[in-house]
Amino acid sequence: MPMYVRPWIVCGMVACAFTMAFAAQRKGGGTDAMARIAREYVRLVLATGQHDKDYVDAYYGPEDIKKEAESAKPTLDDIAAGVKSFQAQLQGVTPPAGELERLRHQYLQKQLSAMGARVRMLKGERLSFDEESQALYDAVAPTYPESHFQAVLDRLEKRFPGSGPLVERYDAWRRAFLIPRERLDAVFQAAIGGCRERTLAQVALPANERFTVEYVTGKSWSGYNWYQGNFRSVIQVNTDLPIYIDRAIDLACHEGYPGHHVYNALLEQHLVRARGWIEFSVYPLFSPQSLIAEGTANFGIDVAFPGRERVTYEQTRLFPLAGLDPARAAEYYEVMAMVDQLSYAGNEAARRYINGQMDAAAVTAWLERYALMPHDRAAQRVRFFDQYRSYVINYNYGKDLVRKYIEAHGGTPDHPNRRWQEFEKLLSSPRLPSGLR
Ligand SMILES: [Zn+2]
Repeated sequence: MPMYVRPWIVCGMVACAFTMAFAAQRKGGGTDAMARIAREYVRLVLATGQHDKDYVDAYYGPEDIKKEAESAKPTLDDIAAGVKSFQAQLQGVTPPAGELERLRHQYLQKQLSAMGARVRMLKGERLSFDEESQALYDAVAPTYPESHFQAVLDRLEKRFPGSGPLVERYDAWRRAFLIPRERLDAVFQAAIGGCRERTLAQVALPANERFTVEYVTGKSWSGYNWYQGNFRSVIQVNTDLPIYIDRAIDLACHEGYPGHHVYNALLEQHLVRARGWIEFSVYPLFSPQSLIAEGTANFGIDVAFPGRERVTYEQTRLFPLAGLDPARAAEYYEVMAMVDQLSYAGNEAARRYINGQMDAAAVTAWLERYALMPHDRAAQRVRFFDQYRSYVINYNYGKDLVRKYIEAHGGTPDHPNRRWQEFEKLLSSPRLPSGLR
């Protein structure tokens, strides 16, 4: 990649007036202007990361941009001014004709706008849950009343009759499906192997791609992919809470194949390396990119293991490895499918909590009741809300948007090859959440 060093220019109104005048001179200028704005965007993301430890999820671009951002230490006001300046510059660039180029142009606009919102939040501005998800993730998740979840809970009541809270009966049943700690790595490695094999059969990945797995504690999330660049990832699995058998395939697909690891590797291969689009070498977590990342990572589980294939694989490979009774695999996934219908209860809980309608204790109890989360898991989820707020919509609403988009393009379950093709295309392009609808 060409190294094009430019001093930090986001340092107050004078500099911004300068950059805007500079942009006006170049109005309509295509590729060069985009390359220059992309570079400044990377610098702004890295600068925001100095004020927000969770902001920069990955960076593998030129080291000199990072050094410039670190030594300039711009304030939040400097960054906000920079965002405005580059938004204006971007508006001065005539939208390109090619589809991918046009998506890139729109993507940079939305990513900058989200950065502006995150900077305002860091400065203390308070947004409602839906305002925040619109500003950061380019989407507002649907709302469901308690009666929606109650109907699902009523069906689960029939499945687990008895007295005491339903969550306790469900939890007691589920204990038979725990992966023993000493078998965790073997089961997880086998699941990664299964996800990778299925992905490689359909998607051309760079030859040297790979990832390593680490087991960690003390986190608000259950798994995390840290993309390192050069087609490598470090995947961390949180072992704070018991891990059930479904997490093996879920995490291996979501964090690895065809989820985050593949998404990042394809962006690096097709956009950063093949086209020199440097903005994709940085991944700001609180941005529209995250809805695409989480939505594809979750939908990717179904793409890799459609329909009954998952139960068959679990029954023959993972249940025996985990020392669980393979005869109960179908039963387990029938119940999981029912519980999955409560997924949006997590969004409702977060919405009420972020909007100040419920405190931590009340929202924990609400999650136990409506999302069927045992107390420890509900408490962990509230810690996740504290750290990531409206980010929660990216998982389930993201998955639903991705599914609808892929199916609208012919990637229905009965056309599995087409589904993989459309999925790969989405993973390799800078499409925005609003572009999925
Ligand atoms: Zn994820």
